[in-house]
Amino acid sequence: MSDLLQRLRGRGWRMTAQRRVVAEVLAGEHVHLTADEVLAQATARLPEISRATVYNTLGELVSLGEVIEVTTDGRAKRYDPNAHRPHQHLVCADCGTIRDVHPAGDPLTALPSAERFGFTVLTAEMTFRGRCPDCRTRP
Ligand SMILES: [Zn+2]
Ligand SMILES: [Zn+2]
Repeated sequence: MSDLLQRLRGRGWRMTAQRRVVAEVLAGEHVHLTADEVLAQATARLPEISRATVYNTLGELVSLGEVIEVTTDGRAKRYDPNAHRPHQHLVCADCGTIRDVHPAGDPLTALPSAERFGFTVLTAEMTFRGRCPDCRTRP
């Protein structure tokens, strides 16, 4: 069973066949799927699943804090099940592949106090961009 399914079980999430399929599609590492990709993969496993159920389930997983929404470079919003380990994203500028990365040091300390304008800084998001190995070797 995936981490996500295990976490949902642990919190007593009502597990129907449809909701289970959505959680299964989101299982794994470096998973950052758009809602349409989740829908396509869920439909492949459970043809009768409805678009509304997939979208509602995604919204619910986000409000539970078990899945995070990721937006990079104005591309479609993506759903990321790696919600409990803080991480940043490494994005291929050509194909949009996304990897979860963990830069050394605490990103919050990277902002000097003179640049904080009296704010209490809570989170920081960083996007590293480049070209993935597949795109780099493509002629
Ligand atoms: Zn690429
Ligand atoms: Zn991620």
